[in-house]
Amino acid sequence: PLEINHLHKSFNGNPVLNGLSLKAQKGDVITLIGASGSGKSTFLRCMNLLEMPDQGELIVHGEAIGFKVDRKGQRQPEDWKQVERIRARLSMVFQNFNLWPHMTLIENVMAAPVHVLKMPKAQAREKGMALLKRVGLSERASYFPTQMSGGQQQRGAIARALAMDPEVMLFDEPTSALDPELVGDVLHVMHELADEGRTMIVVTHEMDFARDVSNHVMFLHQGLIEEQGAPGDILTSPRSERLQQFLAPRY
Ligand code: ATP
Ligand code: MG
Repeated sequence: PLEINHLHKSFNGNPVLNGLSLKAQKGDVITLIGASGSGKSTFLRCMNLLEMPDQGELIVHGEAIGFKVDRKGQRQPEDWKQVERIRARLSMVFQNFNLWPHMTLIENVMAAPVHVLKMPKAQAREKGMALLKRVGLSERASYFPTQMSGGQQQRGAIARALAMDPEVMLFDEPTSALDPELVGDVLHVMHELADEGRTMIVVTHEMDFARDVSNHVMFLHQGLIEEQGAPGDILTSPRSERLQQFLAPRY
């Protein structure tokens, strides 16, 4: 469903991504790990074009994204309709709970199907309720985000992402802003999604998740892939010194 070739991105002349490639087949769960500032979030944001890559190729579901260069020399999408299509296919769950605060949980989950996919409201509600049930939030449908715990909000954000039937789900440290006792519920939902064959790309510091759930791990260092492979290989016997250091217990 997703192929990325030689992606580059700089901010104000500072290179952040230096030629990253990734291929996700259906059902792959790829974890991205690396130190703070190594470019993980930027890479993820480039995938659904929240950031425009400066160079590189992005192919989603066989469709290559077209770019053009504007008068300032900035790369822009050739066709914003295409960008909308891509964003609908790659839905993202962020670190900081990003449910819309002025809507109830079910309204959050229904919004994109109704507005983007033009799904009838009754159908979107029915589908939304089924998704809330899946993530264990049936009882919270009419709550506003501020009335929910961080873990509930994050599971709500996952239900909202699922409502678009995304081709690939992108997660940017979905558990790192949570109190420790709430992390398990969110990881459990993600584990289930992986088991049902969802294609997922997950930035995470949860090494247990990387080891147990993902089938491929990519270790980023300064915007490059320093090492990648099956979790059983690279997490147990890392070759590069940087990955060895990264994995070493911090005490
Ligand atoms: P963390 O683990 O802390 O989330 P990360 O690996 O996700 O880190 P990024 O957020 O991708 O790292 O940031 C990589 C580098 O790009 C950092 O040095 C950051 O300062 C820089 N950067 C990211 N976004 C921008 C931006 N919008 N403008 C300028 N610099 C940016
Ligand atoms: Mg980040």
